[in-house]
Amino acid sequence: MTQQKQREINLRIPGPTPVPADILEAVGRPMVNHRGREFAGIIQRIAEGLKDFFLTRQDVMIVSASGTGGLESAVVNVLSPGDKVLAVSIGAFGDRFATIAETYGANVTSLPYEWGQAAKPDDIKQALAAEPDIKAVLVTHNETSTGVTNPLAEIAEVVRNGSVDRLLLVDAVSSLGAIPLDMDGWGLDVVATGSQKGWMVPPGLAFVSMSERAWQAHDRATMPRFYFDLAKHRDSQAKGQTPFTPTMSVFFGLDIALRRMAAEGLESIITRHRNIANQTRAGVKALGLELLCQDERYASDTVTAVKAPEGIDVGELRNLMEDEYNTVVAGGQAKLSGKIFRIGHLGLVAEEDIRETLAGLGEALGKLGYKAA
Ligand SMILES: *Cc1c(COP(=O)(O)O)cnc(C)c1O
Repeated sequence: MTQQKQREINLRIPGPTPVPADILEAVGRPMVNHRGREFAGIIQRIAEGLKDFFLTRQDVMIVSASGTGGLESAVVNVLSPGDKVLAVSIGAFGDRFATIAETYGANVTSLPYEWGQAAKPDDIKQALAAEPDIKAVLVTHNETSTGVTNPLAEIAEVVRNGSVDRLLLVDAVSSLGAIPLDMDGWGLDVVATGSQKGWMVPPGLAFVSMSERAWQAHDRATMPRFYFDLAKHRDSQAKGQTPFTPTMSVFFGLDIALRRMAAEGLESIITRHRNIANQTRAGVKALGLELLCQDERYASDTVTAVKAPEGIDVGELRNLMEDEYNTVVAGGQAKLSGKIFRIGHLGLVAEEDIRETLAGLGEALGKLGYKAA
């Protein structure tokens, strides 16, 4: 009964995302021996399957944690206290990445942008020229708090340029498996993502991959690490094990999810997200609303941030959409709270879901007295 009702909710937040029925069923499987043969097979199958979405030949470590655990492991595995780090931030998640590095004693230089804008590779180039001893650059691929996607390939080019050992650490939590990212091709050093975003499974897993350069840095890095020591995860995984008891239910789901994603194909998945993002933006603008991301070259294909129109209370709008139109959208984070709302369109999403969202949005706005300009 409850499950039936849950399935009908049009959950349009940028994670956790809707979980298809066959994956929910897998998640509900009885426990097995997490050190047994069957589970070892699942671990090895998933670890291989993930490589096709990271576009890497490196190991992808499956860590039982939320996406932030993936970011924390990125930092502590390759850096030492006092290391100079350039933290590029275009929103709340960029700030979080910087805070993690600061917490562990990195010497952080911030390169902040106005929320709603993308980072400019030229600025990064200049910042690196000004401080050539910067050891690592932290960047968010897709900033979920603002609906902006950074030009990651170009950023990687300026970070790589002229330095053999400078590292690029990427928060790809809301982009991987939905927005193009080529870990090996672009020379990314640490890439982290989370299960509840583009992967159609519940929260509980972070996936992290490291380049050879990053593994070399791992050997020298002295930030404290225990649970998040990725060498432990890599070595266990090679034997079909995890160093600690994993969130097994999410593994069961991911096994099915990766099969579904492989059947659809990465190119098709990317195209679907691009088309649906275009549909979302066009529909929002047709209602007379304004996007937070003014330069649509950088508008995200997984989440759209919309400015709240004058006189409309975002909380009231969201409640009305949920209560009367069965659609849940997200509010703004941190300084954008009350100023924007966000429509998630990643993972399990089809055109029909966005039509329903836009129809509900238009009607709810009308009830609240909004008239398109
Ligand atoms: C969701 C998200 C995270 C991590 O969030 P968790 O709540 O820890 O899973 C980090 N970065 C981005 C860009 C995200 O969208």
